[in-house]
Amino acid sequence: MGRFWGPINDISNIYNMLLVTMASIERVFELFDQTPDIADLPDARELPKIEGKVEFKDVSFYYDPEKPVLKHVSFTVKPGETIALVGPTGAGKSTIVNLISRFYDPVEGQVCIDGYDIKHVTLKSLRSQMGIVLQDTFIFAGTIYDNIKYGKPDATYEEVIEAAKAVHAHDFIMEFEDGYNTQVNERGSRLSVGQRQLISFARTLLANPRILILDEATSSIDTHTEILVQQALEKLLEGRTSFVIAHRLSTIRNADRIFVIDDGQIKEMGNHEELMAKKGIYYDLQMSQYRFAV
Ligand code: ADP
Repeated sequence: MGRFWGPINDISNIYNMLLVTMASIERVFELFDQTPDIADLPDARELPKIEGKVEFKDVSFYYDPEKPVLKHVSFTVKPGETIALVGPTGAGKSTIVNLISRFYDPVEGQVCIDGYDIKHVTLKSLRSQMGIVLQDTFIFAGTIYDNIKYGKPDATYEEVIEAAKAVHAHDFIMEFEDGYNTQVNERGSRLSVGQRQLISFARTLLANPRILILDEATSSIDTHTEILVQQALEKLLEGRTSFVIAHRLSTIRNADRIFVIDDGQIKEMGNHEELMAKKGIYYDLQMSQYRFAV
């Protein structure tokens, strides 16, 4: 298995559901190396318990100096808001979320959480308050129970079941002969794509991060599971600051605000109705038959 601690779209990594808790982060760091350039500064401070305000202050970024990726991006997201990031492939959506979880530092400008420049806080205190759910959900060899509990290693049995129920995973889990003790492997065999997603949602809900980053899965799932996933997603986003690289129209419509990203800039911001009324890029995207954010 490749390392599962890495930025979104870094093709050298296997994309996995990644979720950090105080206990698991240590395990992750022990086993796998982190992004090479990113480390705690000598004077790094603990990020206190956050409410979840996220600010980009004139952030510019490139991976390659010849090729600017984000150009003077500024925004403020209130605690609890759900932001859908939409726009064409290569626009800079993943880069924005990679900067929020500090897989990279901005070349210019600042990323602040609750007013703290995240470059100056410890990675552990930052990422322990953040949940990241990537498209290809991370399932490890063990029982379904362990896979959910991973979100909060000291969770009680009741808490694990409660989280599974809240995201509609309980019923299908109970259909297995061994229920929560069903053994699964890294590739999640025995589990459908939708079921894997629900397990990763349960794990994240249990961890209860203040900030959630979610790269919404594009893989097609059956209509019944699709409805369950959609409802589970709403539950998961509730009450925490969320950035969703959104692929489902329902997610985009339900977002508090949509950021339309193109060419490394936020071209439009607003909710679905506002952006439709504006008759700009978002409107055109909706009207065109192309699905955006593929
Ligand atoms: P999106 O998520 O909107 O598809 P990305 O943020 O992944 O866009 O990519 C923005 C630009 O940065 C693209 O041109 C992409 O090729 C480039 N890019 C993304 N990740 C890396 C990387 N690790 N190294 C070099 N270039 C990258």
